[in-house]
Amino acid sequence: MSRRFIVTAAVLCAASVLAACGTMGTGSRATANLAPTGAISPNPTMGKVTFQALEHGVRVEGEVRGFAPGTEHGFHIHEKGDCGDNGNASGGHFNPGGGTHGKFAAPGSHAGELPSLVADSGGVARFSVDVHSISLIEGANNNVVGRALVVHRDRDDFTTQPAGNSGPRIACAVITRG
Ligand code: ZN
Repeated sequence: MSRRFIVTAAVLCAASVLAACGTMGTGSRATANLAPTGAISPNPTMGKVTFQALEHGVRVEGEVRGFAPGTEHGFHIHEKGDCGDNGNASGGHFNPGGGTHGKFAAPGSHAGELPSLVADSGGVARFSVDVHSISLIEGANNNVVGRALVVHRDRDDFTTQPAGNSGPRIACAVITRG
């Protein structure tokens, strides 16, 4: 057996294990229906985002529409599941690990960081990302069910503390199981 064949077989085996273990039962799902806030007017921003538990982390995917074409928008999970006061009642970024604001998945950044939304020529941002810093596990300190998903008006600079200078909160949803 050639060395090359052995390596190929090992890779295929690993891929099949990931396929079997990558997602858990249908009970491990949550949804966020993003609604426009009154922070800007008019405000056509809305979207739907799903959360699917993985063996390690959560797959977050969905679509947000109503942006100006080609624009970039800060996108985070915020601490409190309250979209009142134009999204400001959701508090700061979800940060159970006591980190500092930075790019998605950067060491030491907030658990609630997500990649920024980037609108296409039709003003729609579509995404699918695996987030390893969060869970949907009841009682876990990184559980995001019951917290808020927030879209900002402006681009996130990933530097300014504590929220990247990304401006008003233009859409918000409480993350709900199911
Ligand atoms: Zn935010």
